[in-house]
Amino acid sequence: MRELDRIVKEIADEMRRRTDRGEVATYIPELACADQQAFGLAVVDTDGHIAAAGDSDTPFSIQSISKVFTLTLALGKVGDRLWQRVGREPSGSPFNSIVQLEFERGKPRNPFINAGAIAVTDTILSGHQPREVLGELLRFIQFLADDTSITIDEAVAASEQRTGFRNIALANYMKAFGVIENPADFTLGVYFHHCAIAMSCRQLAMAARFLAHSGRNPDTGLSVVSPERARRINAIMLMCGHYDGSGEFAYRVGLPGKSGVGGGILAIAPAKASIAVWSPGLDASGNSRLGRIALEMLTQRLGWSIFGV
Ligand code: GLU
Repeated sequence: MRELDRIVKEIADEMRRRTDRGEVATYIPELACADQQAFGLAVVDTDGHIAAAGDSDTPFSIQSISKVFTLTLALGKVGDRLWQRVGREPSGSPFNSIVQLEFERGKPRNPFINAGAIAVTDTILSGHQPREVLGELLRFIQFLADDTSITIDEAVAASEQRTGFRNIALANYMKAFGVIENPADFTLGVYFHHCAIAMSCRQLAMAARFLAHSGRNPDTGLSVVSPERARRINAIMLMCGHYDGSGEFAYRVGLPGKSGVGGGILAIAPAKASIAVWSPGLDASGNSRLGRIALEMLTQRLGWSIFGV
């Protein structure tokens, strides 16, 4: 057994036994159905070897992790012009904060807080129908993961559409500043649906390999984004990927990462591996509690932190 397989299995076994699992998100009612006991971990290394353990093949709601893929598409579409609409500084605020938007005259701090992600979604929507954009995004993710079975969980999307009052407020507020170009309900419809994409840890780790390999798919050698763009997406993940818990994540794990309120975390060990972990219980910042602890163990045991051992 490879060392990586052994470590991944040990961590999953340890996580199964823990009782301090955090709280499952309930503000999107459908997410409350998640099994708090679930835990999955998958790591795809440079050889394409997948070390996986626990519930690594169970699809879960990727929620804000989808923002890594929408950001990639938006940068492909408009390049650096994106930064006229969205900043790239850490926010130090909760994921759904409204107060900062008023101070900053409708320009969201970064593409990963909800306001910023809604503005990014609006960018990829412009000139298209919502259905076309969602189809394009889904095909992009399926292509990256080499798996056409990935779908959108319509029940989760409908649940957020019924209850996403804060996001509706954020979109309308940005609309008032001219930051949102399309009808706000179209942009929100696409946003709620891309947050509702369901993927397993294995699929997610596969889909993000290009970020660990300077923008290339390591299997085919084909370029997904330029090396500079991959580096910059990783930088934004490191600084902004865990909302007001981003500093703590960098301190403990030391990898670029993006969390979602479905309990998933995607993490990138540059030139080493793409990693996905899932445990639905969240900490106070809305990040997977055991997911973060598992990643801390993994990076420590393998010496994978980008800041050294
Ligand atoms: N769809 C969720 C929301 O907008 C995403 C939040 C998250 O995963 O952090 O509230």
